[in-house]
Amino acid sequence: MLKKLLPVFIFLFYVSAEAQPATVKRTLKLMGSRFDITVVAQDEAEANKYIDTAIAEISRIEKMISSWDPASETSAINKNAGLHPVKVSGELFQLIKRAKGISKLTDGAFDISYASMDNTWKFDGSMQEMPSEEKIKASVAKVGHENIILNEAEQSVFLKLPGMKIGFGAIGKGYAADKAKNLLQQKGVAAGIINASGDMNTWGKQVNGQDWKVAITNPLDKNKAFALLPIKNEAVVTSGDYEKFVEFNGTRYAHIIDPRTGYPAAGIISVTVFAPKAELADALATSVFVMGREVGLNRINQLPGIECIIIDTEGNIFTSDHIEINTSK
Ligand code: ADP
Ligand code: MG
Repeated sequence: MLKKLLPVFIFLFYVSAEAQPATVKRTLKLMGSRFDITVVAQDEAEANKYIDTAIAEISRIEKMISSWDPASETSAINKNAGLHPVKVSGELFQLIKRAKGISKLTDGAFDISYASMDNTWKFDGSMQEMPSEEKIKASVAKVGHENIILNEAEQSVFLKLPGMKIGFGAIGKGYAADKAKNLLQQKGVAAGIINASGDMNTWGKQVNGQDWKVAITNPLDKNKAFALLPIKNEAVVTSGDYEKFVEFNGTRYAHIIDPRTGYPAAGIISVTVFAPKAELADALATSVFVMGREVGLNRINQLPGIECIIIDTEGNIFTSDHIEINTSK
């Protein structure tokens, strides 16, 4: 009897093991940042294959938008600032066009041409004193999204002023997360998370049928998450100054600079934005830093489908109108 049943048992066990989807997470460095890529697939081998696909996509985007890679399309635009327009791929053209749109939406708080100010502020600990007022004033001379000239017919980008530069530090990781997600969705991957150092886009559900959840922590008290929020096919991005900042005369300056004044944003320690796309969430999180709590919250409340959580330098928590978290603890 037992002899007869054994193969049946083994077969059943094999089938059920096979049917159980696998969740695989891989951590690696891309775009100079930590990426955690999580994929749900039929089995581990398949999940790993999809993770490789996501990595290839993110690396492709990095090659396009990197300001450090002299061979990138972005470097070609920067090198020709003040000289002549540069014809670029449709993809980069559209990304720059959307970035300009976000500048308008945020009254210039977000501006990819912030990049020429890179020499004035350093957030790697090498700065000993506050730059002079003249130096800060002079640093914004080459900044201004209105001087990024797009020619739709030619698909060209021209930076009007010599010395002008663009950089995708505040939008690139979000864009990469969106593109990797889209590609895997197209390939039929049911669920996953592309997390680019806190800039993440998600889709589908966990294997246990539950929504993915994101833990919101207070940077001043990292061990305690004050909220665990479900995310349903949407993006969540956190911009924080707890890793990159400088302090002068008791004021903490974030690595995010107000393109209109040349001064780094102060007063906020972390901004989390929920949006349908990580690209917009990424850019808006940076913008809220610059706009400050009041203006930032106001602007977010005007945008349908977008929510945010702000923590100021005193550890106070503020949220947009339609987000409910219990912050009483
Ligand atoms: P993180 O890199 O911590 O996720 P952000 O997404 O906010 O933070 O991006 C910050 C980076 O964006 C800066 O390091 C800089 O490269 C760039 N940046 C700084 N200020 C601005 C700004 N006002 N508009 C656009 N990009 C900015
Ligand atoms: Mg950002």
